[in-house]
Amino acid sequence: MYTDKQKSWHKRRYQDRLKKRLCPQCGNVRDNEWITCSICREKCRKYSRGLTHEQRNASTNRYRKQCRENNICYRCGSSLRTDSHINCEKCREVRRINRMDADARRMLIKVNNVE
Ligand SMILES: [Zn+2]
Ligand SMILES: [Zn+2]
Repeated sequence: MYTDKQKSWHKRRYQDRLKKRLCPQCGNVRDNEWITCSICREKCRKYSRGLTHEQRNASTNRYRKQCRENNICYRCGSSLRTDSHINCEKCREVRRINRMDADARRMLIKVNNVE
């Protein structure tokens, strides 16, 4: 277990790395889309392969909750200006476009089936 002092140090380091656009877990340079670097992502993937669906979900939820507490977007790690959304504006826009694409695809399938 960590003491309070250690906890706040970890939190500070985490925030500091985020601000510098580094992987908060190891301090490596990360690519833009992801909050963690490719090495940590690979580690995480290997680890999550051994988990059940429920365990994976729980860890995703934990991660999102953590991001929420730090007031950052869980998709890209940029800080959120408002409290009312869990994603930043950029990621919300991406999601909106993806959703629109999915709708368009569904429509297309429907049309094709009718013919
Ligand atoms: Zn990393
Ligand atoms: Zn984002």
